[in-house]
Amino acid sequence: MMATPLLYDLDIIQALRLQEQSMIDLFPGYTISKEYVDYHNHVCPRCQQEQKIFNNTVKKMGTVSAFEHPLEQKVILYVSCKNCTKELARQSRFGSKPIKDSDVATHTEEYILEQIKND
Ligand SMILES: [Zn+2]
Repeated sequence: MMATPLLYDLDIIQALRLQEQSMIDLFPGYTISKEYVDYHNHVCPRCQQEQKIFNNTVKKMGTVSAFEHPLEQKVILYVSCKNCTKELARQSRFGSKPIKDSDVATHTEEYILEQIKND
């Protein structure tokens, strides 16, 4: 594990706080895990591209998301890059969620769990 947690721009920090608070409300008793956000999110978990880092700050990130890990009673937060966020917005503009998107979500979650399991 890296010694210093990653930093983010203010808009992402605020979005992370909001997401964390709403997950605390939605999943009482669960741990809200920022392991991925703090130590692995220099790689966007959706497209798995390395992101630009400046002064330990991950730049040009897009959307904060979260998913539930029921077995461990955890909710895991993560941030997607700007490109992935644009793609998600484009998809939702064309109406119903394509099946493909839930596949991407599963893929993203599996990737994150793989990254944090050795911490
Ligand atoms: Zn991405």
